[in-house]
Amino acid sequence: MYIKYYWNKQDYEEIEVPNSATEDEIQTFLNQYLQNKENIELLKILANGCKIHPSYRAKRKVITWCETCNKMWSARQVLTKYNIL
Ligand SMILES: [Zn+2]
Repeated sequence: MYIKYYWNKQDYEEIEVPNSATEDEIQTFLNQYLQNKENIELLKILANGCKIHPSYRAKRKVITWCETCNKMWSARQVLTKYNIL
């Protein structure tokens, strides 16, 4: 079956969940789905890198005002915390 997840009043996404799922299982499934979506966005930040500093891969903290490099570092911190990297 499909459930509608509303991002705001107009925009929604239809997400497929198993037919036999209970309300709690649907909630767990939905949380996992949203978490995965967020992780994908963080991985994209790392994969896209920084156009100004192409050699920076956020392996270590960088002291710079470059917004992209700092975003990459933050993304890696979150992904490392949840054992995704
Ligand atoms: Zn940079």
